[in-house]
Amino acid sequence: MSTAEAPASHLRENPFEIAKDQLRRVADVFDIDDNLVNVLGACKKAVSVSIPVAMDDGRTQVFEGHRVTHNIARGPSKGGIRYHPDVTVDEVKALAMWMTWKCALAGIPFGGAKGGVVCNPKQLSRGELERMTRRFTTEIINEIGPEKDIPAPDVGTDGNVMAWIFDTYSMNKGHSVLGVVTGKPLTIGGSLGREEATARGALFCIREAVAKKELRLDGMSVAVQGFGNVGSYLSKFLAEDGAKVIAISDSQTALHNPNGIDVQAALAHKRQTGSLGGLKGAEEITNDELLLLDCDVLAPCALEQVITEANAGQVKARIICEGANGPLTPSADEILEDKGILILPDILANAGGVIVSYFEWVQGLQEYFWKEAEVNARLNDIITKAFDETWDTYKERETTMRFAAYGLAVQRVAEATITRGIYP
Ligand code: NAD
Repeated sequence: MSTAEAPASHLRENPFEIAKDQLRRVADVFDIDDNLVNVLGACKKAVSVSIPVAMDDGRTQVFEGHRVTHNIARGPSKGGIRYHPDVTVDEVKALAMWMTWKCALAGIPFGGAKGGVVCNPKQLSRGELERMTRRFTTEIINEIGPEKDIPAPDVGTDGNVMAWIFDTYSMNKGHSVLGVVTGKPLTIGGSLGREEATARGALFCIREAVAKKELRLDGMSVAVQGFGNVGSYLSKFLAEDGAKVIAISDSQTALHNPNGIDVQAALAHKRQTGSLGGLKGAEEITNDELLLLDCDVLAPCALEQVITEANAGQVKARIICEGANGPLTPSADEILEDKGILILPDILANAGGVIVSYFEWVQGLQEYFWKEAEVNARLNDIITKAFDETWDTYKERETTMRFAAYGLAVQRVAEATITRGIYP
């Protein structure tokens, strides 16, 4: 894609600067040593590669890819791979740092990483997508591995992409390496419950938050932005719990019905047509309007920085569940906190994906696979524990849920770093 064709980026602020600033502010509140902040504020490794791909029309197109490891103090690094036109190395670094905190908050033995390729996967044929994925995997083959760094799906990637990464890595090693990637299809060593895991984790967090506020999810109104992996399953689960899903959206279409949208019909429509456009039974609004609807729960499940200081003052939700990573800018955060909105931060609310990825990795290493009920019950145990610890810290320290979650996580990574010592 030439620069002239590139769409305006969704990134209004540099996400890595935001992530580093969050770390510094959390370190102040939780009295974390400056030397450690210097260590934790830097990414261990960032690899950028060029990915030449033979296109269907005979051209060779060169894509830009990145794989960043933020920290491995608590275990091998873990994090998704994003295919999106707006990917930048600083976005990947921020997402890698948030993965470190997410794994630490959940108490699973991973550090943080992330990857991305600057591309629009919707404009690539299946063959082009496969060739790009296999070449990207080959370019980063020395960086990834079951004991080293384990990719997973993120925006624009799915089980098919993970299958190609798994196969490319395995072909190069000469044997199947189940633990190299998670989010694999069930036919090749994926875990039951992984596809729905991020949304299920968010659902468990919303249930806990609603209970703490002595409210009932049944009958509550919910608006969900993004109808991909996270947003579509979250809409489905919330509707099954009796909530009224009054708005949903994808990148092209946002829909609103104050009496509730038929989520099953929306899922079927998206599956058949690939988009929400043309779905009956709801009025079309804009994605910006969706964020400002009068509702009990707002779940941004698309991209970063959708709520900024420009629109935060108009948000009317009572609870915000960050299904996406980084959907609120720090200035939006302050405005929303002042309004008394309860924010369930990304590193807690969307941790379900990496928790079940951890289960998939464990199952792959043991070559012994669990029942879905077991996966979901263990997910519930881990995420509810993380929620309770965050909630208790939030109350005890009279801070925000975000600072409580980040504080607990950063403390854990700092402790691991001190225990290991700085090499040499
Ligand atoms: P996805 O590609 O499956 O879905 C993204 C959705 O967002 C799509 O419906 C897309 O149309 C929509 N979208 C894109 N741009 C939009 C815009 N400007 N306005 C409204 N909608 C828009 O991606 P996903 O895996 O569901 O990831 C969504 C978010 O959740 C990302 O922030 C990701 O980092 C985060 N996340 C995902 C996982 C996971 O397991 N997939 C885990 C943790 C966090």
